[in-house]
Amino acid sequence: MKILVPVKRVIDYNVKVRVRSDGRGVDLTSTKMSINPFDEIAMEQAILLREAGIASEVIAVSCGVAACQETLRTAMAIGADRAVLVETDAELQPLSVAKLLFAVVRTEGPQLVILGKQAIDDDASQTGQMLAALLDWPQATCASKVVIGDREGRKLATVTREVDGGLEILEIGLPAIVTADLRLNTPRYVTLPNIMKAKKKPLAVIKPADLGVDITPRLKTVTVAEPLQRSAGVIVADVVQLIDKLRNEAKVIE
Ligand code: AMP
Repeated sequence: MKILVPVKRVIDYNVKVRVRSDGRGVDLTSTKMSINPFDEIAMEQAILLREAGIASEVIAVSCGVAACQETLRTAMAIGADRAVLVETDAELQPLSVAKLLFAVVRTEGPQLVILGKQAIDDDASQTGQMLAALLDWPQATCASKVVIGDREGRKLATVTREVDGGLEILEIGLPAIVTADLRLNTPRYVTLPNIMKAKKKPLAVIKPADLGVDITPRLKTVTVAEPLQRSAGVIVADVVQLIDKLRNEAKVIE
């Protein structure tokens, strides 16, 4: 079976994000970009399934600017067999990405799509769910363990999810959507030989129009702002002074 892993190019998690002066987004000029960390975990899971003989091929797909090719090369250095870039300079919102992925799924015919549970730039946590709805496939989100099995000739995924106060175990029939949580696995280090091998793996570039998908944004960003700076604190001499300040200055107690 084929596994499709959508990977997003995001600002590297070590970078301190700066808000643009027009207040409409964050500054991406000369900012280090990397593969979304949850997508690295999703990719590792797909490779583990291929190494276990369960998957026959792992395909990485990214939607975005031409530089996403670097992200796809990283995905192939982790182990993806080949990659597809849906290239556009236009702003992409989760619904548009889900529609593009829907079209790629229709062309590639995977039995499993493993996405990250969220992209660390928009924190939307929507794409996998929307893709499941468009495909009318079952979904198991925030997976911390995935086991693929068979029952009466039907392939199933048994997915463990960390929920408040314990673990939830779901069984879903394939084809299905799974989204990866942090503790699903520890992605392997990308080695130099694998980076070199990844350069030779096939990477197809297509455009949203080739897939017949309308990517017009549905949401408008009103404003993006830095968090408020915390004001300096004061050291009080004793509890009496603390209560006085809480009552008469902060006015948070009667
Ligand atoms: P989000 O809904 O934006 O939080 O993203 C959830 C997941 O959807 C990510 O972890 C990726 O697996 C996938 N995804 C989102 N945007 C893209 C993109 N532009 N290209 C490829 N995959 C994406």
